[in-house]
Amino acid sequence: MEYNADNVFAKILRAEIPTDKIYEDDYALAFYDIHPKAKIHVLVISKSMVTDFTDFMEHSSDEEAAGYMRAIVKVTHLLNLDKDGYRLVFNTGPDSGQEVPHLHAHILAGEKLKTDL
Ligand code: AMP
Repeated sequence: MEYNADNVFAKILRAEIPTDKIYEDDYALAFYDIHPKAKIHVLVISKSMVTDFTDFMEHSSDEEAAGYMRAIVKVTHLLNLDKDGYRLVFNTGPDSGQEVPHLHAHILAGEKLKTDL
């Protein structure tokens, strides 16, 4: 799928839409999901203009890929999830229900999560 910069996360990166930012570096921006599906529900979006996980891993540099993945781990530390853990979700494509066509990881945590994936 061709990247379309009209999506809501591209607008957030351009500061056209406000968010309650948790973390930002050269590779990623993290903020709380507006419709939380767990007690803690944070999104970590990539600063690369890519639609999803496959697009990102196939078209980003090794530096961008590692920087983004490490940013996700930094956010889990900031949220104090080291002991209790978390679930990481990358919805990718129509069958996953992906709504926003800009790479993002969901961090779900803060309670025992359902295991019927
Ligand atoms: P996905 O279905 O994986 O594409 O997830 C998109 C997520 O973005 C959903 O969980 C939405 O609740 C969330 N979302 C959409 N717009 C915003 C926004 N402006 N701020 C925070 N979260 C948002």
